[in-house]
Amino acid sequence: MSSDPNCIFCKIVAGQIPAKKVHEDDELLVFHDIHPWAPVHVLVIPKLHIASHTDVTAEHVPLLGRMLALAPRLMKDLGVTNGFRTVLNCGPDGGQEVYHLHMHVMGGPRPWLKG
Ligand code: AMP
Ligand code: ZN
Repeated sequence: MSSDPNCIFCKIVAGQIPAKKVHEDDELLVFHDIHPWAPVHVLVIPKLHIASHTDVTAEHVPLLGRMLALAPRLMKDLGVTNGFRTVLNCGPDGGQEVYHLHMHVMGGPRPWLKG
């Protein structure tokens, strides 16, 4: 399934619900988290609906590489100069709430709300 009509992040990809976008290309979308833990907190998502990290297969390897490679450039563009944290929650025990693969990238001066 490339898109799930009931998925909130697929709806953001489709422009059906708003988001504060910071980057978009053919495969990835990045937007600010609606409940930020840190002064800068964005979510990097594939446009393709992949429900969770456990659904990743070998064909997704280049996509995951692009997500990781994008993070430092995003943080630099958003003015983060002192390091950042990257988090990927998977499944119930991993604290995943939205079942569309996403990578949290957080930065900015501490203290943070959490993380
Ligand atoms: P996770 O626990 O890793 O599944 O995190 C899901 C994240 O998505 C949370 O940090 C939420 O604040 C964030 N989130 C949920 N809905 C939206 C939305 N409509 N726009 C932006 N961020 C969202
Ligand atoms: Zn989705």
